[in-house]
Amino acid sequence: MNQQNIAAFVEQRWDNSILPVLADYIRIPNKSPAFDADWQANGHMDKAVGLLRQWADDAGVDGFSSEVVTLPGRTPLLYAEVASTGGAGTVLLYGHYDKQPEFDGWEPDLSPWEPVIREGKLYGRGGADDGYALFGSLTAIAALQAEGKTHARCVLLIEGCEESGSYDLPFYVDLLKARIGDPDLVVCLDAECGNYAQLWATTSLRGMLPGVLEVAVLTEGQHSGAAGGIVPSSFRLLREVMNRVENPATGALLPALYVEIPDYVRTQLSSVASVLGDGVIERFPWLPGVRPETDDPLELLINNAWRPSLATVGLSGAPTVDNAGNTLRPATQAKLVFRLPPTLDADVAASTVKAELEREPPLGAHVRFELDTPQSGWCAPPFAPWLEASIDRASQNYFGKPAKRMGMGGTIPFMKMLGDAYPNVQFLVTGVLGPKSNAHGPNEFLEITTAKRITACVAQILADHASRADPARVL
Ligand SMILES: [Zn+2]
Repeated sequence: MNQQNIAAFVEQRWDNSILPVLADYIRIPNKSPAFDADWQANGHMDKAVGLLRQWADDAGVDGFSSEVVTLPGRTPLLYAEVASTGGAGTVLLYGHYDKQPEFDGWEPDLSPWEPVIREGKLYGRGGADDGYALFGSLTAIAALQAEGKTHARCVLLIEGCEESGSYDLPFYVDLLKARIGDPDLVVCLDAECGNYAQLWATTSLRGMLPGVLEVAVLTEGQHSGAAGGIVPSSFRLLREVMNRVENPATGALLPALYVEIPDYVRTQLSSVASVLGDGVIERFPWLPGVRPETDDPLELLINNAWRPSLATVGLSGAPTVDNAGNTLRPATQAKLVFRLPPTLDADVAASTVKAELEREPPLGAHVRFELDTPQSGWCAPPFAPWLEASIDRASQNYFGKPAKRMGMGGTIPFMKMLGDAYPNVQFLVTGVLGPKSNAHGPNEFLEITTAKRITACVAQILADHASRADPARVL
């Protein structure tokens, strides 16, 4: 395969065609249904999926067909196929077009819904997570076609519910089962990367357990002088209940949320720690003097990929501080998000955590833990020899460095569903979510050079997939 031609095609397509449309895409505030209860009436989701489909239809890919499939009340799914140009099997390429909410803290000249390109980065909500996936996937295929290289039949699934836990997706996968066929390779461009210097293949993802914890003590707020000392603070009781699942001094969570860490994970992450070193820590915007949970990069990587963690991502039941009177509040709500080890069953974890939080409420307070959809993590099957070699070849060709493999701290619910549905499938799970890209916070950016290189890597891997020695075909 002519590497220069592929790189040039990808470069040209990104600069002239993708970036302008991705900028328009960023302007659409199509927040995932969990963050926009009126998403149907607001119409942003339809607009976003329509924009993506229009671009795909105009991308000049031979054998391409697309459809926006909509089940009643569910977020639309962009379904597309590209006919095989000779390769056997089916490749499933996955991405999502729903977005995280704005969050605050954007720099003064940046904003979630107005794209800005600065120093090679495209800033704005949803460009990196995960708007670019369709563009990257289809451009990889187009680049192969322009070079006259063979690829297998490709199916693209771009869903609209990922940031809400992908609860709509199983219905579409059921509906489209026969059309999807039997994929033997999944390409997912929704993951993280350890740095922007090489290709990162994700070997595991954590699960996620989101829910809202409420502690209520009164029917209405009371003068805190009159009630203090008689009526307990709902915030104190909430802390007390939370301490049952999280040690406030060490951050250790319920023992039931841990799994035994396989030996290969330590080996793999030691190699990552030696490449990243302090980069493991420096990828975050620390305040002066603040230290990580430990100074050992290996332990930090294991914590992030294979141990549970807890973040309190939302709080309500209280006014903002500048509008807070001296009132003892009737209730406090906290949105908790537990990340779970890759191999832990999220439903079992959910019932354990719920039971622990709700049992024997202190002082008879009304305590409820309302669960969102629990999402189990995922562990990649071992790479087939052809894919193992192809990932390294791709990274070497387009980044000039060997690839790295590591477990990532994030969650992509669909990978677990796919792994269960197609036990023999192989996975390339990678992405542009590297240091400071901040997909779920302020100042989200897409590192443009990395996006181009990953696109070219996908082209390489699709070409290698098409020319692999298929064991099923050897008689
Ligand atoms: Zn994503």
